[in-house]
Parts: sequence; structure tokens; C-alpha cells
Amino acid sequence: MAPKDQHLALSSGLGLAGIAVSNFWDCGREAIDCFKEEIIESVLKPNKETATHHYLNFFQNIEDEVDMFWKNTDLDKAYEFIVRTLDEVKMKPSLPVPDFKTCEEDYGHFSCECNEIVIQWMSYVSKNMDEIDKLIKHSAFQFIFQDRSFLHDFHLELANMIENEMDYIKSTYPEYVTTKNRLRRQHFPVWLKQAVFYRDKGTCVICRCDLSNLIRTQNTIHIDHIVPLELFGTNDASNMQLLCESCNTSKGARSTATSSINVPSWNL
Ligand SMILES: [Zn+2]
Ligand SMILES: [Zn+2]
Repeated sequence: MAPKDQHLALSSGLGLAGIAVSNFWDCGREAIDCFKEEIIESVLKPNKETATHHYLNFFQNIEDEVDMFWKNTDLDKAYEFIVRTLDEVKMKPSLPVPDFKTCEEDYGHFSCECNEIVIQWMSYVSKNMDEIDKLIKHSAFQFIFQDRSFLHDFHLELANMIENEMDYIKSTYPEYVTTKNRLRRQHFPVWLKQAVFYRDKGTCVICRCDLSNLIRTQNTIHIDHIVPLELFGTNDASNMQLLCESCNTSKGARSTATSSINVPSWNL
């Protein structure tokens, strides 16, 4: 059976993923701290809403973005941005269309009909901002999830926060903490195993051996925590990678080894 498809806003998502990754060194810690409680709740066991989704939240606010356009550029550019974004998230409001070309008040359109119309479009965005932001974050995650090096750095930073907050985690979620003050290992749901297997192209990300079982059938697949639980890593779905048995054994509980090996589309 073919996997279930879903509409994604890939262009907007790519823009957001770029901002979120390139600002990580500047404000990664601040962003993680900002959503501390939500993040902790989402990393106790694998969740489709990952810690990186909360991190993306720090950078995504469609209402502010539209507002910036409206203040800083020409009104027609602001309108174009709104239409492009709504089109990408498949929202088609039946609102009037501004006619910038025949408008007599063409310097800034401050007090003409175009202005009133664009404001209607802006309030449509504001009313639907949660839904728009959610789809853009979900789309950005599709890119973030491909970048194991970024995920490695992200989860190391997250591990610092988890270590500092261990007393809080222990008192709020005692069933998820071991006697050694680490997060307890959890089962990997099928959707996560599939996602990691396909992202890593059915190969061990360290030694690149084939784990697809198409050629040999004795390969055991290991889903590995990039930042181990022992080092205050979490069960977050974005902290996982595919390893073979021998790489998993030699990696042990104290290594955060990953690789940035990728298979370009032309090589598939
Ligand atoms: Zn006008
Ligand atoms: Zn291996």
C-alpha cells in the first residue's frame, strides 16, 4: 500500500528551515529555553510533534511576517506575499482583489480602496495564523529531519537543558526517569522506524552497510539515539538514526557518533 500523502508547503517550509538552522548558533539555547516545558513533554517518548517542531515555533509567526511586509514594503508586495503564502497552504478566501494598476492613489496606497482590501486579507491571515504556521512548521520539519549533523548539534544542546532540568522532570514525570537520573528508554513506534529507515536509505549511517534485507536477509536493524540517553539525550523522534548491529555495539552508550553521509538523488 502506498504511504498516505499530504499537502505540504515546501517553499515556505524550506525558508523557515533555513532560518532555523542558520540561527542555531546565535539563539539555539534561547529558543530551546523559551519552549522548555513543551519540549520536555514532547521528548519523554517518541512523538510526531518533536522538539525541533517547538524550536521552529521560535522563528515562525505569519502574522508578524505579513505585518513587517505591510510596514516596510510597497502594499502590492505585501499583498503578493499573502497570496503566495495562502496559495501554498491551500487556502482560498473569497475576498475582493485589489486593483493596484488602475488605482489613482498609486503612491503607497495609504488611503485608497486597495488599502482596505489588503487589510481584509491581513485579518484573514491573522484569523487562520495557527493553522498556517502549523503547516509551515510541519513542512520545515521535512527538511530539518534530513540533516543529521544539525540534529546531532541540536540534541547536544537539548541534552544540556535536560540535564539542568532533571529535578523538574523527575518530580513532574517520575515514570519516565531511571534511578540514574536519565530518561527511560521507550519503544519505537512503527511510523518512527519507517521514517528513520527511509531517511537513512536502508543503510547504516556509519559503516554504510546495506540493511534493506533485499540482498541478505540476516541484517538486524538498530534504531539508535544520536545523543545517547546516558548523556541526557532524549527519546525525541528526531534524535534517531539507523545503525547496523556492529556499529551500534561499538558506538556504546557514551558516543554521539553520526555522519553527514548522504546519497544524492542522481545516485539512487
Ligand atoms: Zn490604491
Ligand atoms: Zn554499521
